[in-house]
Amino acid sequence: MKDKVVIVTGSASGIGLSMAEKFFEKGAKVVLSDINTEALNKKVSEFNSSNVLGIKCDVSQEEEIKNLINTTKDKFGRVDVFVNNAGLQHVAMIEDFPVAKFDQMVAIMLRACFISTKYLFPIMKKQKFGRIINISSINGLIGFAGKVAYNACKHGIIGVTKVAALECARDGITVNAICPGYIATPLVLGQMADLGKTRGCSTEEALEQVLYPLIPQKQLIDVNDVAELACYLASDVAKHITGAAMVIDGGYTVQ
Ligand code: NAD
Repeated sequence: MKDKVVIVTGSASGIGLSMAEKFFEKGAKVVLSDINTEALNKKVSEFNSSNVLGIKCDVSQEEEIKNLINTTKDKFGRVDVFVNNAGLQHVAMIEDFPVAKFDQMVAIMLRACFISTKYLFPIMKKQKFGRIINISSINGLIGFAGKVAYNACKHGIIGVTKVAALECARDGITVNAICPGYIATPLVLGQMADLGKTRGCSTEEALEQVLYPLIPQKQLIDVNDVAELACYLASDVAKHITGAAMVIDGGYTVQ
C-alpha cells in the first residue's frame, strides 16, 4: 500500500475506522471521512500524521462526495482506493417502515456508491489504476425480516459493483463488494449483552442461544479480517478480481 491514496467513507468509527487504520499501517495515505465531524476530528488527531487527512462528507449529498474526491486529489495528487463504507440500520416491518427513512438509507448506502463511482472513474481511468470497494453484507445475499431498506441497499450495492466492474474492465480498475456477516463490533456485542440481561444470561450465552445457531463457525467475524480483505482487494495482486461479492461470514450464507 506504500504511497497509495485511500479514502474510506464513514470511517470515524467501526469497520471504516479499522480499514483506515489497516491501510495506514501498510503505508497508505489515508483520508478519513464521516458525517460526524466531532468523532472524525478526534480520530484524525489520534493518527497524528501528515499522511492522514479528515474530510467531512455526508455521502447522501452529491456535492459533498465530489468535494471529498477532488480535495483528496488536490492534496495527495491521486485517488487509488475508495471504500464505500458509510451505513446505518433501521429495523421495522414493511407496513411500519417510514418512507423517508427508506429514502435516506438508499441515499447513504446505495446512491452514494453510484455517485462516488461516477466521479472516481475519470480520475482512476487517467491513472490507469483504481480500486473501488463497496461494503455490502450478508443482507446483500439473503433476506432478513424487518430490514427492508438495508437489504434493498445491500443487494443493490452488488448490482452497482457488477456494472461498474464491467465499465472499467480495460482501465486497470477493479470494483468489488465485501459481504461480512455479524462482526464483533461494540454495537453487535452491546446488543447481545442487552439480550443477555433480558434473558438473565451472559453475553456469550446470548450469542450461543441466538446467533451461533445461524453461524457454522460459531464465532463472530473479526473486524481486522475484514480490513485485511479490503487491503488485499486494493493490492496489485488482486488485479483479476473484479465484480465479485466477497463473502466473509463464517459460513452463515452457506446453509
Ligand atoms: P458504525 O455505525 O460503527 O459506522 C458507520 C459510520 O458511518 C459512522 O461513523 C457514521 O457516522 C457514518 N455515517 C452514517 N451516515 C453517514 C452519512 N450520511 N455520510 C457519511 N457517514 C455516515 O457501523 P459499522 O458496523 O462499522 O458499519 C460500517 C459498514 O459495514 C456499513 O455499511 C454496514 O452496513 C456494514 N456492515 C456492518 C456489519 C456489522 O456486523 N457491524 C456487518 C456487515 C456489514
